[in-house]
Amino acid sequence: MRIVIVGIQGAGKSTQGNLLSEKYNIPYLSSGHIFRQMAQEKTPTGRWLKETINSGALVDDDMTLKVVLEYLKKPEYQNGYILDGFPRTVVQAEAFNGGVDKVIFLDVADKEALWRISGRHDNREDETVVAIRRRIDLFHEWTLPVLGYYESQNKLVRIDGEQEVVKVFDDICKSLNKLEKAEAKERAKQ
Ligand code: AMP
Repeated sequence: MRIVIVGIQGAGKSTQGNLLSEKYNIPYLSSGHIFRQMAQEKTPTGRWLKETINSGALVDDDMTLKVVLEYLKKPEYQNGYILDGFPRTVVQAEAFNGGVDKVIFLDVADKEALWRISGRHDNREDETVVAIRRRIDLFHEWTLPVLGYYESQNKLVRIDGEQEVVKVFDDICKSLNKLEKAEAKERAKQ
């Protein structure tokens, strides 16, 4: 299964991504995590990435595609993945055409997400109010069109992300079970 989870910051992508990874035994990969790791390098690219991430801006499509697509070539991702944070623009989605079976949109209102993030205690350097606000604005501008892109391919599932964690998970699993059955049937044929 090749799954993409989409949602604003605070929507519960990593919580649900990790739960799904455990249930279906598929690796979870967050593009934000890759970039945060790269941003620790004491190189011009590392410093530039750190600045970009901390300001809440997006990394450019060329670099994002180069880094994420290279990462996905690793053997552990050959039987599927749960992606969080990629693709985030239509350019990325188009370049990644063929790499996605289902897109899970965790629908959470901006206000609720901001409330959730303000309750976190991990003090991440990239979680200033200004950066979060900017990320949410960029989500509306650049990532909502990605949902339309996948909707036109019948791959989009919209989930009410404001429910309890277990209920959100249950709704996602229900929508993925169909996909899993189809894949099992396909495997049985081979
Ligand atoms: P996230 O943890 O997904 O919010 O990602 C943290 C930061 O990494 C974002 O604010 C962006 O600067 C960068 N980033 C992660 N994924 C992407 C992407 N697909 N396209 C552009 N920038 C990204």
